[in-house]
Amino acid sequence: MRNEFASCPLCASPLERGREGEHLRMVCRACGYVHYRNPAPAAGVLIVENGAVLLVKRRYEPFKGLWSIPSGFIEYDEDVRVTAAREAMEETGLEIEIDALHAVETCFDDPRGNTLLVLYRAHATGGTPRAGDDAEEVGFFPLEDLPPVAFEAHRKVRGELAGRA
Ligand SMILES: [Zn+2]
Repeated sequence: MRNEFASCPLCASPLERGREGEHLRMVCRACGYVHYRNPAPAAGVLIVENGAVLLVKRRYEPFKGLWSIPSGFIEYDEDVRVTAAREAMEETGLEIEIDALHAVETCFDDPRGNTLLVLYRAHATGGTPRAGDDAEEVGFFPLEDLPPVAFEAHRKVRGELAGRA
């Protein structure tokens, strides 16, 4: 298993692989700790203006150079909508207002680990599109001419959008 702890985060004893029902989990025989793995939640915004979708080009790995929907990981103490607005501002320079939940999609191809994307439909209320943070470029792409995008969760949304064009 990738990204797996070798030692117990509570007592530092070595973790062992144990079976719980159908799942293999890392468990600590010394203190009973069970390491449950969950997908990491991320939030993003789908901004469509005049039939074109706002995308950002990834500045860093994984999938450096590919386009994706503006999004990022939710901080532990952050409301999911706040994450969506923060990532929009950091990556695209736009102030946004959320309109509705668009989709929730699982992503199994992020090499850092599985994720869950909460994607809101939103519209810009201020700012100028400008790449920042881990975005190298921002651009609006017409639904009928969307570039390939990174991440399985984003590809599912892309496919659904392209089907509407
Ligand atoms: Zn332990």
